[in-house]
Amino acid sequence: MTGSYCAICGEALLYAAKTAGQPLDGRCRLCRLAAPPFERAVAYGSYDGALRDLVHLLKFSQVRPAAQVLGRMLAESIAALDPSLPSGIISVIPVPLHAHKQSQRGFNQADLIARAALKQLSRSGHVKKFELCAGALVRLRDTGSQIGLTRHQRRQNLRGAFAVKDATAISNRNILLVDDVYTTGATASECARVLRRAGAARVWVATAGRTLRVSNFFVEPDVSEGRDDEPGMTEHSMAEPGMTEASREPTIGIATHVG
Ligand SMILES: [Zn+2]
Repeated sequence: MTGSYCAICGEALLYAAKTAGQPLDGRCRLCRLAAPPFERAVAYGSYDGALRDLVHLLKFSQVRPAAQVLGRMLAESIAALDPSLPSGIISVIPVPLHAHKQSQRGFNQADLIARAALKQLSRSGHVKKFELCAGALVRLRDTGSQIGLTRHQRRQNLRGAFAVKDATAISNRNILLVDDVYTTGATASECARVLRRAGAARVWVATAGRTLRVSNFFVEPDVSEGRDDEPGMTEHSMAEPGMTEASREPTIGIATHVG
């Protein structure tokens, strides 16, 4: 399955592969236009079906045991990424929630999933490599739901939303940023940017779920270079009939093409 997905962000390359005259260097169009501030983003599977149900159970129904299952999924994607990670300690940082949101929900789902994943990894001998570093990155603003926003709007919405609280925990560290779902990558990119600015050596991203962009499957290649407003990619549109097969099929690739 290698070559079907962007080597950086994991996006399906169906669109790029069909665009004549573009170099097929293993990167998607967006990653070629501007390299993300992270080395690579990996996910266990496509954000639909059972995986999506689990995330909803955890986030919206506060069913905490769902974090254990999602954590095991996350552990698999981290284990697959591991061979391409440098030696030494990797600081694991869950994408933070705003304090208000976290007290409303009672927990940060990314933190719960990260803890469950690290527990799982320690059982398979990875214990010394990954070190949870919660609290070093904070969310200063509650950015609200990003559903329905374009990539550009998401990026603007997230500007200044994150800050490094403990620079010594970040400086010169290799960091694995963890979240429940990677949608457009706007959140991961903004966190990685803030971490890099605070002196992080390199940043990787691992999530349980991954939304594959609708545009890669359905939009005609009329997007001019430099434009980064993708057509509104909403969570809703991913659930449309007909999308399921296209989005489910590459799932295996996401989980296995890494490392
Ligand atoms: Zn990419």
